[in-house]
Amino acid sequence: MRDVLRRDGLPLRVDPVTGLVEGVHFVPSPNCDERPPGCDLELVVVHNISLPPGEYGGPWIERLFTNALAGTEHPYFEDIRGLRVSAHLLIRRDGSLMQFVPLGLRAWHAGESSWRGRSRCNDFSVGVELEGADDVPYEDRQYTTLSALVAALVDVYPGIRPDSVTGHSDIAPGRKTDPGPAFDWPRLHALVRQRLAVPGQDLRA
Ligand SMILES: [Zn+2]
Repeated sequence: MRDVLRRDGLPLRVDPVTGLVEGVHFVPSPNCDERPPGCDLELVVVHNISLPPGEYGGPWIERLFTNALAGTEHPYFEDIRGLRVSAHLLIRRDGSLMQFVPLGLRAWHAGESSWRGRSRCNDFSVGVELEGADDVPYEDRQYTTLSALVAALVDVYPGIRPDSVTGHSDIAPGRKTDPGPAFDWPRLHALVRQRLAVPGQDLRA
């Protein structure tokens, strides 16, 4: 992860052939499958996760996404060890980025969901987990990395526009609350606009 930290603030690049973010630590998750034929990427979904809840660091998120949680390490893990979930990318508290699913494949992050009248958001979205909790301010470096990531996705996937970023709570209201009130949407939008040099007000869908 050291090389990612060294790139803090610099542009990221997505390889459209492999669907991998260049230079990022890739740990393949089995929790993914093919996207439906002809399904273009159109959406970025922002989530949060911390394992155990409210604690940062440790190998637990990686283990959850690779089905390697034994369930005995912490009482909370007993409840979640059978879950088959993933996200394409994880941004740690220090801003470092990890990838679990190539962008061309469908990660299992959104569940039952709907965006602009379309259901099954996993089919056409990129799932990004921020290590964090709903009510705890996110780190500066997480915003830096997320904005660089969104700009890189907009560069490579024509269906993803600067305003195609939303929260899990927005596509699964009543069921999900992440990334929570602590997430500063205007700040993300400003950083993305800055990177893409696009004018405008609120980019949120
Ligand atoms: Zn979520």
